[in-house]
Amino acid sequence: MDVRQKIDIKNLTLDELTGLLDGLGKERFRARQLMQWIYRHGVTSFEAMTTLSKDFRRQLAAIAYISVLTPEVVEESRDGTRKYLFRLADGESIEAVRIPMDKERATLCVSTQVGCAMGCAFCLTATLGLRRNLEAAEIVNQVCAVMAAEPVGNIVFMGMGEPLANFDNVVKALQILQMEEGFAFSSRKLTISTCGLVPEMKRFGGCCSVGLAVSLNAAGDAVRDTLMPVNRRYPLAELMAACREFPLKQRQRITFEYILIHGVNDAPADARRLVRLLHGVKAKVNLIPFNEHPASSFRRPPEERIEAFQKCLLDRGLVAVRRASKGEDISAACGQLKGARDENMEDRTGEKTAAG
Ligand code: SF4
Repeated sequence: MDVRQKIDIKNLTLDELTGLLDGLGKERFRARQLMQWIYRHGVTSFEAMTTLSKDFRRQLAAIAYISVLTPEVVEESRDGTRKYLFRLADGESIEAVRIPMDKERATLCVSTQVGCAMGCAFCLTATLGLRRNLEAAEIVNQVCAVMAAEPVGNIVFMGMGEPLANFDNVVKALQILQMEEGFAFSSRKLTISTCGLVPEMKRFGGCCSVGLAVSLNAAGDAVRDTLMPVNRRYPLAELMAACREFPLKQRQRITFEYILIHGVNDAPADARRLVRLLHGVKAKVNLIPFNEHPASSFRRPPEERIEAFQKCLLDRGLVAVRRASKGEDISAACGQLKGARDENMEDRTGEKTAAG
C-alpha cells in the first residue's frame, strides 16, 4: 500500500486507535500498549514493538505508519533558547521554540499552521499568509522531536498560526499530549493562544480545559483594528464577553498578551484603558516589548515607558508580568517566526528570519 494511503498512528487519539484495532479483532489494551511504545519509548517502527506478535506487527505495518519529524536546523540563542526548524513531507517548513525558564524547566512553543491568515501587523508569520493547517501528528511530532533531545515542562500553542483556526487538529493534538499512556501533560501545563476568534473560543471552552492566552495588544478598537484585522470581525466588546464567559478552574486566569509598540499602544492612557477593559476578568497580563526586525517599522518603547506602563497596571491591582524577550538574536522571539521559505528575505536582511 502507498504510504499516503496508510494511517499515521500519530494522528490518532487513544479512542481512535482502539477503534482501529478493534476492527482488526485486537483487545483494547493493545492500543494502550502501542501508545506507550510510541510516546514513552519513542519507537518509530512497528518492528521495534517486541511485546507484540510478529503477525500483529506485520498487520499494522500493512495499514499504518508512525510519522517522525527530524529537525533540519537547530539554532541556539545566547540566552539558551533553541529554535527547531522542521521540514514537512510536502516541503513546507515550521518552527518550534524551546525557551528555558530556569535550570530545570523549559517551555516549548509549537506551531499549528504553516503561515497564518490573521494578518497581525506586528507578526512575521502573517507575511506568509495561510499555506495550510498542520495535522495533529505534525503538531505532536514537534513535541516528540524536541523531547527526544531535551526536557520540556510546559507547552504553549503560540508558534506559527492561529490555533483555533485549526480547531479539530489542535484539540486532537491536546488529547494526544495529555494521554496517560504517552506524555501525560496535565491541563495546567498546556496553553493555547488565540488572536480572538470568538465563536471558536466558546466552542473550545466547552471541550478543553487547558490554559487560554489571548493576544490583545490594544485596549481600544481603533488601535486594535489597525494591529489585528480580526478585531473588525470580533471587536473588543465581543472578545471580552467571551473571556468573561470562558470556563476557568479555581485560581486559573486568562493570560492577556500585550506587545508594547512605541507610539502605538504604550502611552499611560493606553495602560489606564487596559485596566478598565480587564475590570472583573480573571486576568494576568504579559507585557512583551516589541522585538524589532528589519521587515517592520514598529519600534520597541524606551525602558522608562515600559516600566511606567507596567507600574500603572500593578498600582491598580492587575497581575502584570514583564516577559523577557527570549531568542531575539536567532529570530525566535514572539512575532518573529517565519519558517525557512522566504529566501529573498534572508538575503536582504543577512539573517535567518524564522518562525513566529
Ligand atoms: S500573531 Fe498569531 S494570529 Fe496574528 S498573524 Fe501572527 S501567528 Fe497569526
